[in-house]
Amino acid sequence: MLIFVVLIGIAGCERGPRDHQQTLLVFGTLLDVKAYTDNPVEFDTAVKGLERTFQDMHREWHAWKGDGELVRLNRAIGRGDAITVSPELVELLLRAKQYAEQSGHLFNPAIGGLIAEWGFHSDEPPGGPPPDGNRIASLIEAAPSMAQLTFEQNRILSSNRAVALDLGAFAKGYALNMAIRQLKRSGIAHAIVNAGGDLCVSGRHGDRPWTIGIRHPLAEGVIASVKVSDGECVLTSGNYERYREYEGIRYAHILDPRTGYPVEHVASATVISMDGGLADAAATALSVAGPGQWENIAVQMGINEVMLVDENGDVHLSPSMRDRIEFQQHIDRVIVSPRLNAGS
Ligand code: ADP
Ligand code: MG
Repeated sequence: MLIFVVLIGIAGCERGPRDHQQTLLVFGTLLDVKAYTDNPVEFDTAVKGLERTFQDMHREWHAWKGDGELVRLNRAIGRGDAITVSPELVELLLRAKQYAEQSGHLFNPAIGGLIAEWGFHSDEPPGGPPPDGNRIASLIEAAPSMAQLTFEQNRILSSNRAVALDLGAFAKGYALNMAIRQLKRSGIAHAIVNAGGDLCVSGRHGDRPWTIGIRHPLAEGVIASVKVSDGECVLTSGNYERYREYEGIRYAHILDPRTGYPVEHVASATVISMDGGLADAAATALSVAGPGQWENIAVQMGINEVMLVDENGDVHLSPSMRDRIEFQQHIDRVIVSPRLNAGS
């Protein structure tokens, strides 16, 4: 009798919800999809759907490769022509434009020319000496900005031919948000989609919230963990993964659109928000803003939850971030912003 009960217990367990995981290669990175579900078949179908969506986005939103919509738009802008694009791309660009303006253009996805000049329009890390100073100066003088784009329904025109759109700082967060919504529509209500540490979640991990780790930008392992609730996204802009190295100097892939040179004072910026695209754009903008200016930019962008690790390893926190993260390593100096209100 006892055996019978135990067997039923195990069988019941097998049928109950548990973790299922699949990894896709999309956007040039690994996308980890994890779900807590009792329906592996539904999960399988949902992940296949997601793979198709990400392949479409990768093709259409790539800034320099192939013949997708963004490449065609950039060519038209270069010629001074107006062009009609899909409503999906318009929606994406209107968001990017809004966040660029809110960030005082520290997040500036119109600086594709500058990004190409630094060699980051390549799947391989660039090498050799940094670009010529005069080249950078002339790209800065051309002053490309999202404000120069006008939208007439789905027709886009730029008043400045130097605008070259690159959504590398924004599209990932936007796409992760879309992925979570698509999974929900496919019946998967408890999930994490994770692209190299950038992630969005839905639902819960059984009777607990999902808990995730944020990688230390300057040391091994996880710097902090945080419980993440339904619909939230955690996006980190890091200067430690993609860079150009020449004669022992590292040139990071996040550029200050005001100077044309890589950001130096920030190792990583992490933002939590319900809006993945906003969190991604803000993480980039806050990396550019740095320890002295990040609070103003956070307020302008409506971001409450920020963790910034500066080049010295000091950690800058907004009060709401302080209230929810748990450090996993000893941190010498933690500076909580007195200028942002907790829970505001
Ligand atoms: P990560 O790739 O580490 O998540 P980001 O989200 O900040 O970092 O994206 C960096 C990419 O965004 C760069 O590779 C480049 O293509 C582009 N980029 C660099 N600087 C800026 C900037 N100031 N504004 C907008 N896009 C940028
Ligand atoms: Mg970003």
